[in-house]
Amino acid sequence: MVILRFAPSPTGYLHLGNVRTAVFNYLYSRKNNGKFILRIEDTDLQRSEKRFVEGIKKDLEWLGLKWDEIYFQSERFDIYKEYAQKLIEMGKAYYCTCTREEIYQRQKDNPNAKFGIKYDRKCRGRKEKPQTDYVIRFDIGEFDYIEFEDTVKGKVKVPFTDLDDFVIIKGDGSPTYNFAVVIDDHLMNITHVIRGEDHITNTAKQILIYNSLGFQIPKFVHLPLILNKDKSPLSKREGSTNIEYYRKEGFIPEGIINYLARLGWSYGDREIFTVQELIELFDIKDLNKSNAVFDDQKMLWVNSEHIRMLTPDKFLKYYKIFLLENNLEEELTEEFLIKAFEVYKTRVNTLKEFYNETRIYVPKEIEIDKEFNIENLIDETIKKCFKDLINSIDEILLKPDEEGETIIRSIPEKYGIKLKQFGPPLRIVLTNRKVSPGLVHVIKLLGKEKTVSRIKNFIQ
Ligand code: GLU
Repeated sequence: MVILRFAPSPTGYLHLGNVRTAVFNYLYSRKNNGKFILRIEDTDLQRSEKRFVEGIKKDLEWLGLKWDEIYFQSERFDIYKEYAQKLIEMGKAYYCTCTREEIYQRQKDNPNAKFGIKYDRKCRGRKEKPQTDYVIRFDIGEFDYIEFEDTVKGKVKVPFTDLDDFVIIKGDGSPTYNFAVVIDDHLMNITHVIRGEDHITNTAKQILIYNSLGFQIPKFVHLPLILNKDKSPLSKREGSTNIEYYRKEGFIPEGIINYLARLGWSYGDREIFTVQELIELFDIKDLNKSNAVFDDQKMLWVNSEHIRMLTPDKFLKYYKIFLLENNLEEELTEEFLIKAFEVYKTRVNTLKEFYNETRIYVPKEIEIDKEFNIENLIDETIKKCFKDLINSIDEILLKPDEEGETIIRSIPEKYGIKLKQFGPPLRIVLTNRKVSPGLVHVIKLLGKEKTVSRIKNFIQ
């Protein structure tokens, strides 16, 4: 069975970069009817926070990336200690009491040291537990290069000089990332490790531990980086890349997942996929080697394509979350919102745009912006048209959209003027906007009372 994991550290909220990792792990596990494990890597006791754990779970749930099992590394310290002990007994790890200052001083005193800025192995081989503060270091042995096979990058070689006898258990008894990750990936039978390319050097360290303990090495899949358009890393971007931010902005899970899946993976030149299609079509062998470039405009477009695919139920579900996240009270009824969504879904990129666009349906009257110079657009003939429209309102509301539209068109014709002269002032009077859905749709959404009162209010 294929078993994958997403292993965020709760030292912050989920951002686009780590959600992309989650997406690929999720897709691949579902494609193979495998398992998707959520492992909270909260070994850093100082920097891990409960609110971030809650945030991560909330984001994944909202995205629909359902995990089959969840683990917390902070509950597994005894397991890591046991393996560290085993390594010490095997002579593959040792106690070390050197302080940071001491190591630094020795480096300064001996600038030609073989280990450069790294640990000089002063405590190497120490098996007795010291009385004073200590850490446990892993003995990496001697070699020129460590080599491994990566599904995306092919053969990866990391030189000995890039590594040193790194700490596996810290002074407070907590394990370091590189150690806990190996023990857990082994005990959880992880078959594929999909993660960002920034972990390549860590992978080399991890393989050394795998080999020492005789563990089977999983398949490593290192994802290309995500860059901004100016080639800087996405993480260095100004403004938030947190998922929470996108949820508040009215993005929907399907849009985000689709957009992120295409950052580093492609399927011909196809852009739009449902989550089910991604599960079927995604394969790690199609991951790209080259870095992906993040494009806000494209993300917005992909989101808009998924907005129009939403069923009314899904729309309502996401819309309610959107309102809640933004502390907004909705005065329009669900029944109305569903009708409005049918009209607006091809016109908005986000739920926020939908919210903003539909505010015109809330009040009875609206104020018309001065900048429209509405007086200049209206003469006696247009006023007659307005009155005729009021007289035809029941019929327009009753008839199917197309017939309603024909009625609206016929009004200016009667007075020998064009719809081009009647439409724009009518639209402004009804919506205080220059752009809106077709007038018949606007009128149907406004209903008789609001349509008539907005026109009357204006003519008087
Ligand atoms: N906790 C690590 C991170 O958030 C996990 C890396 C991995 O997948 O091994 O970067």
